[in-house]
Amino acid sequence: MNGESPLLRLMNVSQIYGTGQRSFKAVALVNLTVTEGEFLALLGPSGCGKSTLLRIITGLQKPSEGQVLYRGLPLKGVNPQASMVFQTFALFPWLTVLENVEVPLKARGIPSKMRTARALDLLDRVGLDGFETAYPRELSGGMRQKVGFARAMAIEPELLCLDEPFSALDVLSAEALRGELLELWTSGNIPTRALLMVTHSIEEAVYMADRIVIMEKDPGRVVKDLKVPLPHPRIRKDPKFLDVVDRVYAILAGQTQPEHVELGTAPGEPGRTRALPHIVINELAGLLEHVVELPNDRADIYRLAEELKVNSDHLLRLVEATELLGFATITQGDFILTSLGETFGEASILARKEMFATRIRRLPIFQWLIAMLKAAENHQLEWDVVQTALELEFPPEEAQRQLDTAVNWGRYAELLAYDDNAELIYLELAGSVPTPSPEGRDNGSPQVVI
Ligand code: ADP
Ligand code: MG
Repeated sequence: MNGESPLLRLMNVSQIYGTGQRSFKAVALVNLTVTEGEFLALLGPSGCGKSTLLRIITGLQKPSEGQVLYRGLPLKGVNPQASMVFQTFALFPWLTVLENVEVPLKARGIPSKMRTARALDLLDRVGLDGFETAYPRELSGGMRQKVGFARAMAIEPELLCLDEPFSALDVLSAEALRGELLELWTSGNIPTRALLMVTHSIEEAVYMADRIVIMEKDPGRVVKDLKVPLPHPRIRKDPKFLDVVDRVYAILAGQTQPEHVELGTAPGEPGRTRALPHIVINELAGLLEHVVELPNDRADIYRLAEELKVNSDHLLRLVEATELLGFATITQGDFILTSLGETFGEASILARKEMFATRIRRLPIFQWLIAMLKAAENHQLEWDVVQTALELEFPPEEAQRQLDTAVNWGRYAELLAYDDNAELIYLELAGSVPTPSPEGRDNGSPQVVI
């Protein structure tokens, strides 16, 4: 599917909302080209203008400034070659599944027989065979979203835009539907020439897209455009997959110093092992939640101690941890959240665990610990053995505290487990990415939501 011609071009597109003093720039000077054969994901924090851009691209909205070209021609009004799938699909409750899919075909004056045939075919392809005469209320969320996909595809769009299409679904339905969409796309059985998907999930973007465009807010703008050089089907546990995920994280986190300085080296290796700041995750989450509510996601460090009612020593440890994890930067006494920190502050508990796990996996002390556990029999080690190894790097008391903190963080991230009675540390699920449970509960595959 490698066409070369540009399907869509945004040139210096800006969007201003409101008028006079109240007006603000939601999107500033976006340049973007979508080429035939591409699956593009748009990633960025809430309010960075992702939905706005999709409305501009589909012609539902005219930008305040700049140009939209479709196949080289300026777009006027709604783009007849594009359609949109929304987070929750507004199906007509009084129409059957089949009738819902026929709506856009009817609007285009396609004769009854033809549109029924096409709608039946689409329902078949999205796996809704047998549900043609059902009403939306009879369907699960996942099935309703499938009707939404079928409806969006009914007009055989060249450009299919998807605005967080899986985020309202439970873990299993979302995963199934992702697979089905990818199958349709990679098989080349649909006339769609390009896909543009807004997502809050870093993992989802890396799993599905060929290119990821990362946006930031205030004002909404594109900050990075990176290719995902992985063939389909992609394996989430594949080191190459995790590598791309890490790169996206790094972009969102920003990097202030070279990695070896920022992270230090593993215990026993030449160079200094950077000690983990002794903090518990709830406090870290509390700090980020507090700052994410402040103007510009930024605070004066010394005011923070007062506001959070912690002593300044403790606050500095928290600040150091957020910096180490890439959740914040410190500039001239100000504590400023990175996009990643902002994301963490706004994320669900499940998404936080996944983000936290991804961030600590890159710390040399965790890499060292995980490698040792992987090599050990039954993937477990006695506490004392690990502590002794750490004593090569830290004085005994500090080695113990380091291990305390590492186990505490690792348990939160569901990378490590600890058996207090046997004083054993072991790898959770052999360090693999948790897979969805049928209940879709706590151990479900967490989608990193930003
Ligand atoms: P995203 O989809 O990335 O969360 P949106 O495109 O929905 O972002 O919104 C970008 C910014 O523009 C937000 O601050 C939002 O409140 C604002 N906004 C979006 N639509 C409108 C509108 N129709 N009128 C005024 N402000 C809007
Ligand atoms: Mg949106």
